[in-house]
Amino acid sequence: GAPVSNVAGIGNGAKNGVLIKGGEVMNTFANVDTLVFDKTGTLTEGKTAVTQFKNYAASEDSLAMAAAVEQHSDHPLANAVVKFAAGRNISPDKFTTDSVDTVKGRGVQASIKDQQVLIGNAAMMVDNHIQLSAQQQTDLKAIQKQGSSSVIIAVGNEVQVILGISDVIREGVAESLRQLKKIGIKKTVMLTGDNQATAEAVASQIGIDTVHAELLPEQKVTYVKKYQEQGHRVAFIGDGINDSPSIATADIGIAMGGGTDVAVETSDVVLMASKFEELVHAFGLAKKTVANTK
Ligand code: ADP
Ligand code: MG
Repeated sequence: GAPVSNVAGIGNGAKNGVLIKGGEVMNTFANVDTLVFDKTGTLTEGKTAVTQFKNYAASEDSLAMAAAVEQHSDHPLANAVVKFAAGRNISPDKFTTDSVDTVKGRGVQASIKDQQVLIGNAAMMVDNHIQLSAQQQTDLKAIQKQGSSSVIIAVGNEVQVILGISDVIREGVAESLRQLKKIGIKKTVMLTGDNQATAEAVASQIGIDTVHAELLPEQKVTYVKKYQEQGHRVAFIGDGINDSPSIATADIGIAMGGGTDVAVETSDVVLMASKFEELVHAFGLAKKTVANTK
């Protein structure tokens, strides 16, 4: 990490729950004009829960299979699937899987009783030539339009279940973004691996200017670099799940205090309580500190 040298800034910031790692950080931060946010775990709390269960099969075995597979994943969507199954008294051990493969940006897959089980997004179904019925497409779109994430479960090349998984937008995000615009931020951007419709629904609820969705982790970094190349000074705010490279690449990397250790270590600024008020405070403080030293 950077040396902790700006005592005034840190002292003032720490009182309000912000850790700012050095005086140089204050200078750079004061010149930032573009804020780029990760969605899940940053703009949202990352506390996922299944809120819709569309079952196209006669039994709940597909859900049980999905739970058996997802218990091997630590993705926030996987946790929601396992919890939901448990709530319906489905043991994740009803089925067993030997190996679970993660497909980057898509989902997870495994084989159960000689059947292929795919759990993931629409792109994963397309990759595997699995078609959704008209009803399933309608259900999927309705889930996404609400801003919920969706998980499709296919067993033996047929879609059996579609889940809607909701996450809670962090408190005060919309108001904080308005305040940041008042004190010098020109542009706000969301980057996410989630689908376009879900991402846009969340963005419009909080007033984010630009959305880039369905991204692989390395594409998040590409967007940070693209904005820098366009002449913007960029702060990236993330929780470290899939986005530590973006935190490292941005002019100012900002970590949620509740994020991963890597994120906290790589970052220049830490929002200790993972609150957006802290971000407004930190940026305002950087502006003031730099104005005072001019
Ligand atoms: P993000 O965390 O930003 O959504 P990821 O690269 O982790 O990005 O995932 C991209 C997409 O792949 C997710 O939005 C989801 O649709 C799908 N996905 C990834 N992992 C899982 C999983 N374990 N179960 C279901 N879907 C998954
Ligand atoms: Mg995240």
